[in-house]
Amino acid sequence: MRLILLGPPGAGKGTQAERVCAAHGLVHLSTGDLLRAAVKAGSDLGNEAKAFMDAGNLVPDTLVLALVRERLDQPDAEGGFLLDGFPRNVSQAEALAEDLGARAVESVVHMKLEDEEIVRRLLGRGRKDDTESVIRNRLQVYRDETAPLIAYYQAQTVEGQSGERHSLLRTIDAQGSMDEVFDRIQDALSSQNSNQSGTGASV
Ligand code: AMP
Repeated sequence: MRLILLGPPGAGKGTQAERVCAAHGLVHLSTGDLLRAAVKAGSDLGNEAKAFMDAGNLVPDTLVLALVRERLDQPDAEGGFLLDGFPRNVSQAEALAEDLGARAVESVVHMKLEDEEIVRRLLGRGRKDDTESVIRNRLQVYRDETAPLIAYYQAQTVEGQSGERHSLLRTIDAQGSMDEVFDRIQDALSSQNSNQSGTGASV
């Protein structure tokens, strides 16, 4: 299975990604985690990325794509992967589609959450890039750059078993307990898979 988890900061993508990967034997690729590791290690890429991350802005595509390509090229990614926090804008999505070719993404799960709840959760999380002004900026960046991916993936379809076409995107409510949200994701994936004949995505 090749999946994308899409949603605003604070929607619980990281937590749910771990559970979904454990349940389906997928490689978990979180660009946020990879970037934080690069910053911590003090690599050139990490040093370049740091100021963007501290301000809640997107790190330039070239840096992020280098990390994603390196990870997806590893043999374990052949068995399936879940992308968490990537793509974050349409140009990353286009680069991904080009890179993957026949290994196209099969499902995009959009975790939907109200702004008020996003701010409440992020303030409670206490991560270094979770101060109130940075949170507000991260939300604005999400609206401007990342939210257009909802329509982008909604418009992409996969062929169903009887030849009908279904959208790649499923939207689920990210409000609720960890178990409730996980069940909704699992339902979205199984409805997606039962609709799919495995012929890959097209626009
Ligand atoms: P996250 O853990 O996904 O919230 O990411 C933390 C920070 O890393 C973001 O605020 C961005 O600065 C950066 N980041 C993570 N993923 C991406 C991406 N796909 N493109 C650009 N910047 C990213």
